[in-house]
Amino acid sequence: MGKGGCRAGAGRPGRYRKTGGASGLDVRWMKRQGLLTPGKSGEVYWSRNGQRTGSVSYVTHTNSVWLSYRSRWREEDWKDYNYPVQLAYTACNYGGGRAWFLCPDCGERCAILYISGRGACRKCHQLVYESQSENPCNRTARGANKIRDRLGWEPGILNSNGWKPKGMHWRTFGRLTEKHNHYLRVSFADMKKRYGFCF
Ligand SMILES: [Zn+2]
Repeated sequence: MGKGGCRAGAGRPGRYRKTGGASGLDVRWMKRQGLLTPGKSGEVYWSRNGQRTGSVSYVTHTNSVWLSYRSRWREEDWKDYNYPVQLAYTACNYGGGRAWFLCPDCGERCAILYISGRGACRKCHQLVYESQSENPCNRTARGANKIRDRLGWEPGILNSNGWKPKGMHWRTFGRLTEKHNHYLRVSFADMKKRYGFCF
């Protein structure tokens, strides 16, 4: 047991495998443990079979949690990470608020931040995992174009979305469109960050 440590996400090997060995930091768990109170700080760590597999130091501010840790992406060198993750609250039926992380990549609400390299929501993390490309803009654009190809849409993410191909189930179409649009949002957000403008 680590000094002042908290063990997180006990035993969900299936989830870890699917997301490429990343440790999941669960905002609901952090809230239950009282770690989201401003001024709190400490360490969260993961372990498997009694072995520590990763840890993250956190400092909680009013609307964000600063995370710092060392991590490596695949065969790359170990890197130090230190960045804030914004918190958001939504009202609950039973009073009180439900806490969320805002994904540092796409800005969407998520309950679990996948930490392997920089933390991100499941969708963004999956993108990074599926491709080793450094540039999220190229990566997501490529992902979007793959889907456009499958749907028979004109290539190029600046082109408008097309129609459902004949013979494809609406559910498949809906799923692919949603994924495509997510790639687009990430691409455009990245372009804006990189170049200061958006198309
Ligand atoms: Zn995301």
